[in-house]
Amino acid sequence: MSADNGDATEVLDAVVVGAGFSGLYMLIRLRELGLRSTVIEKGDDVGGTWYWNRYPGARCDIDSVDYCYSFSPKLLEEWRWTERFATQPEILSYLEFVADTFDLRRDIRFSTTVTAADFDAESGTWLVRTSDGNLLRARYVVMAVGNLSEPKRPDIPGVDTFAGDSFHTAQWPKEGVDFTGRRVGVIGTGSTGIQAIPLIAEQAEHLFVFQRTPNYSMPARNAPLEPQYVEDVLASFDERREVSRRSDAGTPFPPASKGTFEVSDEEREAMFEEGWRRGGINALSYAFTDFFTDVRANEVAQEFARRKIRELVEDPQTAESLLPSHHIGTKRTCVDTNYFATYNRDNVTLVDLRREPIEAVTEGGIRTASRHIDLDCLVYAVGFDAMTGAMTAIDIAGRGDRTLREAWADGPATYLGLMVADFPNLFLVTGPGSPGVLSNMVVSIEQHVEWIAETIGYLEAEGLATIEASPAAQDQWVAHVNDLANATLYPQAASWYLGANIPGKARVFMPYVNGCGNYRSECEAVVRDGYRGFALTPAASARA
Ligand code: FAD
Ligand code: NAP
Repeated sequence: MSADNGDATEVLDAVVVGAGFSGLYMLIRLRELGLRSTVIEKGDDVGGTWYWNRYPGARCDIDSVDYCYSFSPKLLEEWRWTERFATQPEILSYLEFVADTFDLRRDIRFSTTVTAADFDAESGTWLVRTSDGNLLRARYVVMAVGNLSEPKRPDIPGVDTFAGDSFHTAQWPKEGVDFTGRRVGVIGTGSTGIQAIPLIAEQAEHLFVFQRTPNYSMPARNAPLEPQYVEDVLASFDERREVSRRSDAGTPFPPASKGTFEVSDEEREAMFEEGWRRGGINALSYAFTDFFTDVRANEVAQEFARRKIRELVEDPQTAESLLPSHHIGTKRTCVDTNYFATYNRDNVTLVDLRREPIEAVTEGGIRTASRHIDLDCLVYAVGFDAMTGAMTAIDIAGRGDRTLREAWADGPATYLGLMVADFPNLFLVTGPGSPGVLSNMVVSIEQHVEWIAETIGYLEAEGLATIEASPAAQDQWVAHVNDLANATLYPQAASWYLGANIPGKARVFMPYVNGCGNYRSECEAVVRDGYRGFALTPAASARA
């Protein structure tokens, strides 16, 4: 559908959707290009992930000193992280500080949702509709909507019948929740549940954890940061970040150099112990090159992790229920503080849903196959419609009125995770087909935003009307992303990377597994080759 030119209320150069790490930086770069731009954000302030996920225990699992922007010397000079892994309030304050420093809020419309975006081939512009009834016309649209921003609705019968208080971790009330004296149920043991459970347990009268799939979790070993350490990091920050940009995971740590079976059993054990002592998401995966590709190598690390769980959990039956069986890392590895030890508390009960599945949420609690558990509060830590959910929630129609939902019915297809064929001038930040979610996302976000800004700058400078991915280049990219994934263990787990957490969602492995550094080189080569795989349309011939 091409919307009527006449009813557009406002004409801009660019609309950015979302005011998290991606949208804020995008706005800064668009302003630098001198483009009239606005950001539309559902929430009533900046922050994205860190605005919404206010559940107890929420914090990053990438070192704070790396989980931040690098583009601004002023930000680096004026901000100091206080913990190895910053809490949600600290990261939110950081993003508020960024918004203040660059006076970003004047170009952001808060409490407003983008509901539709239609490409008008006549004029080569997008018509963007918002929940407040406005229609914006812009040449460029940047979807900075987040990979983990569309909360999964709990797919359990009876959810609406519960008479107590229920909360989704990704829509946590700003004023917090007091669980004192209450019987609380937490459903979900992914990264979110594993962070929240130890803190809810400290408050609740009794906590019931409803676990369907056990997960691996590495100790965070979180601690306050020594001021001198922070200064040392900052003194060589440019080099540190450059190493991260060229690395696989967007972090500055040296890559593994040996295969699992190239060292003796004793040496391997010592390396795993060392990783466990240092903690963090790569506590075990840092050590060996074949961790994600060789089943036997991964199994050795799995056995180590399961042994640690058995050591940490006193009750043998509870420990057995907590033992994961998938290949480590193929579902995102969790990072915790006191998670397994929490099951040693008298006021915590693990409900193993593989033994007694949930039948329904009831007015008074949860009925499993073997009992009814009375509850005052329910916490849904059930995750997200990841990587595509925030995009397909918007009615997006490109050339020939083709909707994005149609285009992605069999799984998301993109070129470089940045653009979609038939959707000219519509950019994705860390879209499916990019390494975003497998990396330190801020490093990936900066690279995407910079690529998009440079591309828009190029179009402007060259007097070009549109850029769009060619279907052939997109097909090749999708095949390449799949081939890379299929050479690893990743696709073997029923993960959100694969869409497996959402009933009915097409199962396609979405992230690019070959690392940030290689991906960056591919993006650079595409530009060097004159935007290889993209069609660039001169101003006079933008029409379909
Ligand atoms: P988001 O921060 O998700 O921002 C997207 C924004 O778009 C949201 O504010 C949303 O409201 C808005 N939006 C979406 N659709 C619309 C619409 N239709 N209209 C208007 N607004 C819309 N990554 C790491 O690298 N390290 C970590 O330690 C880490 N920890 C995480 C912890 C949690 C609890 C979660 C959920 C994710 C974590 N991530 C982590 C991933 C995290 O999402 C990214 O690091 C990063 O914050 C994403 O920024 P973003 O701006 O791309 O997206
Ligand atoms: P998640 O990893 O998808 O975990 C959701 C949990 O809910 C899983 O245990 C899942 O079980 C369970 N679940 C879902 N539906 C259920 C149902 N109907 N019945 C019972 N259980 C159900 O989601 P998440 O924990 O919110 O994490 C998502 C991602 O956000 C992470 O992988 C990570 O990238 C990011 N994150 C990072 C941090 C951090 O440490 N920095 C913290 C939070 C989130 P199954 O596995 O059986 O489906």
